[in-house]
Amino acid sequence: MATGQQNDYVNKGETGLLYIEPKKEPLTKPLIDAYTRKMTAAFRQAKVNYERSCFGFHSCECRVESEPHTYELGNGLVTNSLCIHYLAFHREEVPDYDLKNVESLKFGEEEPNEEELNTPEKPVKVMTREEWLEKEQR
Ligand SMILES: [Zn+2]
Repeated sequence: MATGQQNDYVNKGETGLLYIEPKKEPLTKPLIDAYTRKMTAAFRQAKVNYERSCFGFHSCECRVESEPHTYELGNGLVTNSLCIHYLAFHREEVPDYDLKNVESLKFGEEEPNEEELNTPEKPVKVMTREEWLEKEQR
């Protein structure tokens, strides 16, 4: 992998890519465009760094959880296992500088799979009062 000349990401004084904590509901359908595909390709080539743990566990509004270690993208940036999820389901809340950094990735484009998308589970069905009473009587 090429090293050195690729550090053209937007310097924010930190190297974390897509360390966000979405507050809003995820999209019902994943948004898969050039950004999501670029992130997928880069993520597949990333090196997992078990030594350097993330900034704690990250979990998302939609209760999807990240793995507790970082992914080194080989261009100086590190990200987390929810990077594709954020782009696909929480695009609205991804800041511009993160999008610019994703745009600067040079690993090609690949289609994300289900696992990488971390598709949020459907909300738990709320029991009706009747169902609850019935369950209680058993
Ligand atoms: Zn989410």
